[in-house]
Amino acid sequence: MEYRLRCMRCRKSYRASYKRQTCASCGGILEVEYLGDADGNGIAHAKNFWDFGPMLPKGAYKHFEVGLTRLIKSHENSSLFFKLEFENPTKSFKDRGSAIEVAKAKEYGYSKIVCASTGNMAYSIAYYAKLYSIEAAVFISRSANRDKLIDIRSTHDAELHMINGDFTKAQADAEEYAKRNNAFLGGDYCYRKEGQATIAYELFAQRPSLKNIIVPVGNATLFSALYKAYAMLKKARVAKALPRLIGVEASACSPILDAMKRNSEIKYTRPRTLADAIAVGMPTYGSQAIEAAKSTGGMFVAVGDDEMAVQQDRFYKEYGIKIELAAAAGIAAYGKLSNAIKREETAIILTGANI
Ligand SMILES: [Zn+2]
Repeated sequence: MEYRLRCMRCRKSYRASYKRQTCASCGGILEVEYLGDADGNGIAHAKNFWDFGPMLPKGAYKHFEVGLTRLIKSHENSSLFFKLEFENPTKSFKDRGSAIEVAKAKEYGYSKIVCASTGNMAYSIAYYAKLYSIEAAVFISRSANRDKLIDIRSTHDAELHMINGDFTKAQADAEEYAKRNNAFLGGDYCYRKEGQATIAYELFAQRPSLKNIIVPVGNATLFSALYKAYAMLKKARVAKALPRLIGVEASACSPILDAMKRNSEIKYTRPRTLADAIAVGMPTYGSQAIEAAKSTGGMFVAVGDDEMAVQQDRFYKEYGIKIELAAAAGIAAYGKLSNAIKREETAIILTGANI
């Protein structure tokens, strides 16, 4: 769909041809604003990720296989469903965003893309950068998963910058690198958000009666993307109501839940969780996530690393798949919900299985 970009901080608008991911005036991050109402009527019949094209920013995309992951019913509870996002090419939901974002970098004529990551995003961007024949540079913490690092560097030929610090530090380094090297700044920005919104279109097509969606939250891009996508479906009169959005953070890194409890701005929290995919101390889309939770009657929940590990093990023994700790966080959170919510149809997004 045709679109323009708007700064989330100063509201300045830019044409779709604007090549940067941040506002030239104030440095704020941008949001895709579609020109016209979404046509969601084809969603139920989508046979391929790219059938969601009318709901995505217009672009020169190669139609790689991505998305359309299964939604399976829990073995134990007929009202509980799991969205298997590890069925994507690099085993995490990040591929949906990378398939859009890396294509945009290529379309705008960049020969290099750079990103900060806790692991999965770097893996995914490196993968798509190779497919689009552009270079990738990634900033990643020294504590990241070793197997992912080996794959990022040796299989996908990305330039790896190991940093002493957390994701927030990596993000600042990646922004600086993008400016100095004329690289496209990849990561949790506007195009990735639109790609990730496709999970909402699939969930709606697979189970229109869903009442609750449980989402592990790091930078909160997926959480705010789901809200935007369901709101578009409702505005287009395709969906009747928005499901409750329930965000899950780690007990040792819960800046959004803490801000909601205090009813104040989000403050940086030093991440101390082993669930690297959600170890983000200052979420980019944090305030949008709070709005999304409040407007859908949802909430935020925090779970401990030990609770995630128990659910990771249980899921493995029952389904034969080892999901990452961050994905298991969603299952641990489900256990803490009220019986009234548990009686309603609920989907947990199993975000990845890179362990
Ligand atoms: Zn601005």
